[in-house]
Amino acid sequence: MKNFYIETFGCQMNAHDSEKVVGTLLAEGYSQVTTPDEAELVLYNTCSIRDKAEQKVFHRLQQFKRNNKGKKIVLLGCVAQQEGERVFEKAPFVSMVCGSASYNQLPEMLVQLETGNKRVTGLSLDTEDTFDTPLTRRENPHRAYITIIEGCDKSCAYCVVPFTRGPERSRVSASVIGEARRLAEDGYTEIQLLGQNVNSYRDPSPAGWDFATLLDQVGRVPCIRRVRFTTSHPRDFVRPIVDAIDENPALCNHVHLPMQSGSTRVLQAMQRLYTRDEYMRRIEWMKAARRPIAITTDIIVGFPGETEAEFEETLTLLREVEFDAIFGFKYSRRPNTPALALDDQIAEEEKTRRLQIVLEMQREIQLRRNAAYVGTVEECLVEGFNKATGQWIGRTSQHKTLNFLRPASGGDILGGYVDVRVTRAGANSLAGECVH
Ligand code: SAM
Ligand code: SF4
Repeated sequence: MKNFYIETFGCQMNAHDSEKVVGTLLAEGYSQVTTPDEAELVLYNTCSIRDKAEQKVFHRLQQFKRNNKGKKIVLLGCVAQQEGERVFEKAPFVSMVCGSASYNQLPEMLVQLETGNKRVTGLSLDTEDTFDTPLTRRENPHRAYITIIEGCDKSCAYCVVPFTRGPERSRVSASVIGEARRLAEDGYTEIQLLGQNVNSYRDPSPAGWDFATLLDQVGRVPCIRRVRFTTSHPRDFVRPIVDAIDENPALCNHVHLPMQSGSTRVLQAMQRLYTRDEYMRRIEWMKAARRPIAITTDIIVGFPGETEAEFEETLTLLREVEFDAIFGFKYSRRPNTPALALDDQIAEEEKTRRLQIVLEMQREIQLRRNAAYVGTVEECLVEGFNKATGQWIGRTSQHKTLNFLRPASGGDILGGYVDVRVTRAGANSLAGECVH
């Protein structure tokens, strides 16, 4: 019996890719082990979105090598795609390098690896296929990811994704709905639709569904109580998506809509394809909705040439919108991207200063916004139990963490839905008590 260990770094797309890779390996007769030391095959699924993430990869590979007792080491994901055959020079002990667009060829590549090929590659981006596998081995027993679109056809000036994940490919709607139905039969109640830009979805089958239609239809699959989706691109974010959320209670009250900058000039330099005003119009649609839609975003500070006044525009945008949460990043130079050629790179200390200002301002906004939930009752999916605090960990439809107490006699409620009265609010989570 051959065994393997897999470690994953990066976004939800990577986490879900690893679930599919695990499913494929199990079907090929491998068994999974939980430490690299006991494994014959070590797979490392990597992220190259920022420089720091990439640097960690080679460091970790060295650690795998240190305990190498004839084991085979495989590099997967975005660093594999980006570095390609150079990996064999930098880390000669790696015997296979494979990017996400080639995962559907994994069975053949594993055969090559087993027959002693020490430089197996899967690096072609020239594919129209998506990596749909009925063999997916899911980690979370309650929430399941479904990929609806892979790759990216945008060309944001700072971003490596179009180079590491290839061109945009949408999955046939019947295949998505079929997977959602199977998941419901297996007891999953929450589905998260995944893609770099989910709302660029275009059904390649004659049905021709757009994203709003697909979203609504997934929300109508019997026994599915919650549907989430990430990430949406503002350029393709249309009003029917908000209408679908308003009309279909199974769709969660949460939209992640990365803004990146509050300055139209910087957005243009980033090649983001929308202006500040166009972004704000989408925010207004959501704020005018009947359901209270939580809005979260991504912000990049210190894009080349970002002036102090342009940075201030990001701050005014944060104040205007009052997001429920943000992910803030310092601009990181990435290989192959158009922004590499831009002059006027911002100093590291200045990027750090700008990020701190953003995060401090956002913390106050979140404290204020979350305080408004005290006294309300929120339905939570129970995701865990914290032994140290004796609290259950719940997730609201708005994607807020709500930690709560419940009489010990209540039994196991993991994976269930409970109503919780909010009694306290912090910047990053709420606390409360179960109502029944
Ligand atoms: N496709 C999504 C979109 O366009 O909004 C986002 C995908 S990306 C994996 C996630 C986030 O990483 C981006 O929204 C951006 O804020 C951040 N990011 C991407 N490239 C970056 C870079 N070079 N430096 C800093 N942050 C970056
Ligand atoms: Fe990267 Fe832009 Fe594509 Fe998002 S839309 S993955 S930020 S290139």
